[in-house]
Amino acid sequence: LEMRLAVADRMAALGTLAGGVAHEINNPLTFITNNLLYLEANLGTQAAAQLPHHEELRKALADAREGANRVRTIVKDLRTFSRVEDARRVPVDVHQGLDFAINMAAPELRPRARLVRDYGPVPPVLGDETRLGQVFLNLLVNAAQAIPEGNPEAHAVTVRTRVDASGQVEVEIRDTGSGMKPEVLARIFEPFFTTKPVGVGTGLGLSICHGIIVALGGRISAWSEVGQGTAFTVTLPATEAPRAMPEEKAPVPSRGAR
Ligand code: ADP
Ligand code: MG
Repeated sequence: LEMRLAVADRMAALGTLAGGVAHEINNPLTFITNNLLYLEANLGTQAAAQLPHHEELRKALADAREGANRVRTIVKDLRTFSRVEDARRVPVDVHQGLDFAINMAAPELRPRARLVRDYGPVPPVLGDETRLGQVFLNLLVNAAQAIPEGNPEAHAVTVRTRVDASGQVEVEIRDTGSGMKPEVLARIFEPFFTTKPVGVGTGLGLSICHGIIVALGGRISAWSEVGQGTAFTVTLPATEAPRAMPEEKAPVPSRGAR
């Protein structure tokens, strides 16, 4: 079971990391490939055929191009794996992202807690559906890992959405797990900070979540109490004009102070 959790956590973290790395490699790779093509074209001329070692030069270029093509294939695979294409900011339905993440985390959640969906009527947010899905998956896997297995009726993971007082979309993922001491809570967004055994935790999940949410112009914060549980709140900018919806589904403002 710990292996399964480790895999889910790593997949979530690696997916985001790999997408970022692939994106960074792509630009210089295009530059390399274009320059190799330029050199190849110049070596193909009549004049170039007179150069000493002409055949060796052509062979060296062909090898370099083959290498560049292999890198391109690897980058393409990484992108497919991470399913992160570009940092997009398009209208996204947070409930779709949440449902995706809940499905992915279901094998971890089911033996530990009831899942409670408390979805409010919220407008789309400006973001990237894949990246948001990865953020929610990281948070749900962490919630599962904070709850012991075997008594799912005694624990709950609650996913709540609403529009906050400033009109932004708020997503809260709350668990009734172990909770955290203040000195742990203070460090959770640090890369490689983990309290989990080697092989279970990488300590990358929350730092990546933080990076994604900040890049999208949002905020992420945590509340936690030992023995009570933990709640993560993600706040995201709503699209300026909510998408046209049927009257009965129109977004409503938050119900005021709770
Ligand atoms: P990892 O899960 O690999 O340890 P994260 O960045 O996802 O890395 O989390 C860092 C640390 O924050 C965890 O090791 C754990 O101590 C703490 N943490 C995160 N989420 C929760 C939670 N829901 N309940 C209790 N502790 C948590
Ligand atoms: Mg984690």
